[in-house]
Amino acid sequence: MDNVNHLYQYSLLNALMEGVCEAGIPVSKLLSKGNQGVGTFARMNGELVLLDDKVYQLQAGGIREASMDDQIPYAVATHFSPTHTQEHQRLQSKQSIDQILTSVAPQAANLFVSYRIRGRFVSVTARTIRGQQYRGQPLSELGDNQSVNHYKDIEGTIVGFRTPAAWQGFSVAGHHLHFISSDCTRGGHVLDVSAEDASVGMAVAANVHIELPTSEEFSQAKLRVDDSGIKKVEG
Ligand SMILES: [Zn+2]
Repeated sequence: MDNVNHLYQYSLLNALMEGVCEAGIPVSKLLSKGNQGVGTFARMNGELVLLDDKVYQLQAGGIREASMDDQIPYAVATHFSPTHTQEHQRLQSKQSIDQILTSVAPQAANLFVSYRIRGRFVSVTARTIRGQQYRGQPLSELGDNQSVNHYKDIEGTIVGFRTPAAWQGFSVAGHHLHFISSDCTRGGHVLDVSAEDASVGMAVAANVHIELPTSEEFSQAKLRVDDSGIKKVEG
């Protein structure tokens, strides 16, 4: 495969912020774009995790494996093949993940990094958005109506991406990570995390492929970069 560790992204976070999420690409297409990824579903109904050959929909009420024709209005995926893997006895926070990536790849500040963390997590704070209450409702409003869970002593996998600061609005500048438990019953968009005995695999991505929607909804959206709004809802 000649696109190992390339990133594929559908749509823009800026579009999601403006509530552009009626439709998108089918799950079957996203599966062809990588073995790990994050995103959301039509009407922003929950969080998406792509892990190996499956796409999961994480919602407040539980997790289901997505159908092949479910619509994905926004997602990032990669054919992940770690170039570095490290075992860590103690991982204290999202900041420690950043320190690990920076120590392994100090030259990657302006590049993308994808990573996967497996292990037993001491705690994971994860949210799931509940979906739009009306058509076009912006993501910034959904942050006020999200379900936040604090999981303790839980085994699972984190799929993450680090985006350079200058790309805010293309996707989430900094870290965007989703968690799913080993038994596939719990998970969400990670707000904070700590772990013991975690295996951190990572790869720098210098190739980014972006596919933009051609829908009327997307073409009519007033796209802009809402830096503080993104930090509030995706932090
Ligand atoms: Zn997310």
